[in-house]
Amino acid sequence: MGKALIIGAGGVAGVAIHKCCQNSDVFEEICIASRTKSKCDAYAQKLAGGKTKITTAQVDADDTKALIALIEREKPDVVLNLALPYQDLTIMDACLATRTNYVDTANYEPLDTAKFEYKWQWAYREKFKEAGITALLGSGFDPGVTGVFCAYAQKHHFDQIDYIDILDANAGDHGYPFATNFNPEINIREVTANGSYYENGKEVITKPMEIKRVYNFPEIGKRDMYLLHHEEIESLAINIKGVKRIRFFMTFSENYLNHLKVLQNVGMTSIEPIDFEGKQIVPLQFLKAVLPDPASLGPRTKGKTNIGCIFRGKKDGKDKTYYLYNVCDHQECYREVGSQAISYTTGVPAMIGAAMLMTGTWKGPGVFNIEEFDPDPFMDALNQFGLPWQESFDPELVD
Ligand code: NDP
Repeated sequence: MGKALIIGAGGVAGVAIHKCCQNSDVFEEICIASRTKSKCDAYAQKLAGGKTKITTAQVDADDTKALIALIEREKPDVVLNLALPYQDLTIMDACLATRTNYVDTANYEPLDTAKFEYKWQWAYREKFKEAGITALLGSGFDPGVTGVFCAYAQKHHFDQIDYIDILDANAGDHGYPFATNFNPEINIREVTANGSYYENGKEVITKPMEIKRVYNFPEIGKRDMYLLHHEEIESLAINIKGVKRIRFFMTFSENYLNHLKVLQNVGMTSIEPIDFEGKQIVPLQFLKAVLPDPASLGPRTKGKTNIGCIFRGKKDGKDKTYYLYNVCDHQECYREVGSQAISYTTGVPAMIGAAMLMTGTWKGPGVFNIEEFDPDPFMDALNQFGLPWQESFDPELVD
């Protein structure tokens, strides 16, 4: 079928690369390009000998010119951005210049402010349309599969969705006193920011970790979860017409929150650069350097994740409740692709999103959030590529 250029060679990229190789009818060829080429080469070596041809390259994804040169040389059908949210716009610019389709898993963030907003990327809508190319935003799990779940619930189960609660539980234990499951900088920026939810046309802001609930998750059991701001709320509030409220909850253990509190109190989670021995350093970036690399947690992490959405609304004039979720086992992921479930649950949908554009199953042109497309082929692919979903019509509700 074609060729994908994967940018980034971290935890999520590693899973996506494995999954592209499992889907070699679509991904006949991939080029892995990242800042540290040796990481790309390691994946290429591990997966050599399969049907998918793999090449590697070094690139600084902050440099649009270098990206354009790389895309012109490699001529991919789609660029799958699995670097960091800071690189979204330079990569989108390079895709525009070369008229190449674009997929990512996280919205653009400026380096100096922790903002999770789509406005910068939505500003590319007309340009992508005019260029005749498609950008698929947020093709991870959350955002990503959660948006596909919403589109699926809307299409098959409701005339009107009134309430959406997105619940993200990780019951994995890696045995370290403190570590983050994906890029620590992005993770800590997310959990130290104010919380927010959407209600009756407005964004309601809460203090970090202000709203706590306990939920009895299928296959995991009871966990503390906290309301967070999460980027898919912004697009779902627009694309799920008439929705009254959308909330996002993530589980955290008391131990994780205690460590975070201390790190915050001593200033280690700050993204303001400070002067250290004549050099400017960002405390949070330094913290990232001393924490365990998320990619190294795979062999140690035991337990399961459960991520899904609870919907309440009306069908044929009657009240209806519906819960769609996926349960993923850290150790099974590790056995299959050598990484834990957080990278796995993001890397699989990233590959599927790229495949949707490569095969023309999803077409633009323009810039789209994932829930704007037909969810059915994506839901089938989730079952096929390792993230089977389950449904319940009588779930426990979150008050
Ligand atoms: P990692 O930190 O493990 O990997 C990031 C990769 O990007 C590294 O290989 C890094 O290179 C590379 N990179 C960083 N800056 C540049 C640059 N300027 N030029 C080229 N390459 C660069 O992160 P993850 O794999 O955990 O996460 C990847 C993305 O997935 C992030 O955007 C994250 O927010 C998103 N994500 C989305 C989720 C979802 O459900 N939607 C969930 C989890 C993550 P180097 O090796 O040199 O450091």
